[in-house]
Amino acid sequence: MRAWLEIEMDNLIFNINKIREKVNNREIMAVVKANSYGFGAKETVRYLSEHGVKAFAVACLDEAMDLKEAGIENEILILGILFPEEIEVANENNIQITVGNWKQLEYIKKNTLKVGIHIKIDTGMGRLGFLPEEGERVIDYCLENAINIMGIYSHLSDADGFNKESDDYTETQIKKFQIFEKYKDRVKYLHILNSGGILRFNEKISGNIVRAGICMYGMIANYRVEDLKRVFCVKTKILSIRTVEDDSFISYGRKYVLHKGETFATIGMGYADGIKKEFSNKSYVIIEEEKCPIIGEICMDMCMVKIPESIKNKISLGTEVIVVRDDIIEEINIEHKCSWDILTGIGRRVYRVYKENGKPYLVTR
Ligand SMILES: *Cc1c(COP(=O)(O)O)cnc(C)c1O
Repeated sequence: MRAWLEIEMDNLIFNINKIREKVNNREIMAVVKANSYGFGAKETVRYLSEHGVKAFAVACLDEAMDLKEAGIENEILILGILFPEEIEVANENNIQITVGNWKQLEYIKKNTLKVGIHIKIDTGMGRLGFLPEEGERVIDYCLENAINIMGIYSHLSDADGFNKESDDYTETQIKKFQIFEKYKDRVKYLHILNSGGILRFNEKISGNIVRAGICMYGMIANYRVEDLKRVFCVKTKILSIRTVEDDSFISYGRKYVLHKGETFATIGMGYADGIKKEFSNKSYVIIEEEKCPIIGEICMDMCMVKIPESIKNKISLGTEVIVVRDDIIEEINIEHKCSWDILTGIGRRVYRVYKENGKPYLVTR
């Protein structure tokens, strides 16, 4: 294999169990949109459901159908907004949908669809849903018209802001959502907590199920969570090693000069594999436990790293290179640092290697 993403499934389960403790044993809805953040939706969902996770959330109809076609029988909620033809498909396939406008409700009523819906309330995210003031009218409409409301939910926009203003904003969002607590006996699920909410606002009463995304992988925003375990590690191999005999330009555009006598290695991953262009001259890889800076522009299929003297004699062609890991994401200083963006950007050419007890049991691509 040229490049691969190792996923420690037992640590994923360890993290899920910790998350469950943190939210006082409320149910967990695992958010597995975008191919489960790049970790492979089918295998992640299969494994999680075998370990007691009952509900899953995806972004769109195709993602939900992929899970259905893979034989997943758990509850699935689509977080995006569907149009009439798509609502019909969700209805036929017992997939729960998000409702964020009156047109959807009127369509469901007119066609007497039994599709399970979750009413989306915008408490301050500024993306989808009804305003809280309108929410009660929406819910009454559903109850009067025998529309199958399974949930009411909202989304936090700044629960991982880590400052007082952000935290005040989050508390306001949670407070606005609390007016819907009165429906808790009429709908199955009330939910607002995402990873930031789960880890930082789990003391507040807010719903009976939580939507766990990035925290399953041991992170909150771009930070590692102390009592969670490492789940992922992206690796490749050294393709070439050279010590330069003169000052030499490295990569496209002649933007980096390696000095006479210094050593570089070329490794088998580029931006098409998910090493963001922005990492050029900013991030590092780990070889033989040493940090090696990425030098010069990252290419589509390869990039170059500087080899410190200390490991020069320990490496050879084929030596393993750690390219993306939680500690690297935490440490690098790039302008648009976003762990979700980095993880979902891991490319299709990168194999997914699922491990249990430290041993691979499945390799997919
Ligand atoms: C993506 C998403 C989540 C999960 O967010 P994390 O921060 O990764 O936990 C939860 N809810 C909604 C509506 C989302 O779009």
